[in-house]
Amino acid sequence: MEHGEYLYFIPAVEFPEEESTEALWFVFNGNKLAVETRNDKAEIPSNAKVNEYRDKLKSVFYLGELRGIQCYTAEMDNATAVGEDFKFIDLKTIMPSLEPEIFFVSARAIQIINWDKEHKYCGCCGALMKLKRGERAKVCPECGLINYPRISPAIIVAVTRGKEILLAHNKNFKPGMYSVIAGFVDPGETFEECVKREVMEEVGIRVKNIKYFRSQTWPFPNSLMVGFTAEYDSGEISPDGVEIEEANWYTADNLPSIPSKVTIAGKLIKWFVENTNNKDVV
Ligand SMILES: [Zn+2]
Repeated sequence: MEHGEYLYFIPAVEFPEEESTEALWFVFNGNKLAVETRNDKAEIPSNAKVNEYRDKLKSVFYLGELRGIQCYTAEMDNATAVGEDFKFIDLKTIMPSLEPEIFFVSARAIQIINWDKEHKYCGCCGALMKLKRGERAKVCPECGLINYPRISPAIIVAVTRGKEILLAHNKNFKPGMYSVIAGFVDPGETFEECVKREVMEEVGIRVKNIKYFRSQTWPFPNSLMVGFTAEYDSGEISPDGVEIEEANWYTADNLPSIPSKVTIAGKLIKWFVENTNNKDVV
């Protein structure tokens, strides 16, 4: 079956019978990804380049095919052993220099590597876990516990009030950086409830007309950011003082420093700017 543009990535668990010479290797040292840098672009090393270092790789997994090209991931403990062949750069730092599709495969890769590292032993009985055949999972040979890679969903929401957007400064942001509200989903909560709760907790505002926007993987360390738009309902801005130090309403022509457009936060703010401009035309 030809997937073409419909699915750019076909995940797989079992290793192919033959390793293609074109295969891409997503090799990590901690949170750092091995890349070859040319001009401003960062590229993933191919099979030929990584082959030399095969004895230094551990936790090798097959990921699937990116537009027909095999993708593997592995960990390398000694990041200095590769000389000038490729460099290890923090995934978050290198993200804007990677092709978006390459970033999304890197995001899969690092989460599988970390899951493997963090789930060596059974959380119930302490036995050594084994990989489960045919599934991205581990199984305990003693008690049968099954472990899947953990994904932690979080909401991210653009709250608007007419031609204004609510942007907040989180204490973990760089000075002067503002973004939309975000937070992890609690067990038992729906996305919509989480949007209401996070906005209320962080800035003391009630929202309405919550609408799904789009989602984005965020592998720092294992989030799935689920984006929403919402409209202001009532309340005065009151930052919680714990996570949020300051929050304000901004118009599209007077935005502070905001996240890059490759992030879903940046895309939500871009949506607000375009939507507001369109309103002007109508
Ligand atoms: Zn067990």
